[in-house]
Amino acid sequence: MISNDLLAILVCPSCKKKVEPKDAAAGDNAQMWLVCTGCGLRFPVRDDIPIMLVEEAASAKA
Ligand SMILES: [Zn+2]
Repeated sequence: MISNDLLAILVCPSCKKKVEPKDAAAGDNAQMWLVCTGCGLRFPVRDDIPIMLVEEAASAKA
């Protein structure tokens, strides 16, 4: 799990807004997602490590 302390300091690398955790769906290529509250990019969490890279982010759902 991602600790609240870590969540508190993580921001979207694209728009610098906060991210919030969201459960991954079956078949997703991530344990869970951190979803940007600003632009909606979804950052994968793999092996308990948030991948805060725009290149790795899934684009917002239409
Ligand atoms: Zn963002």
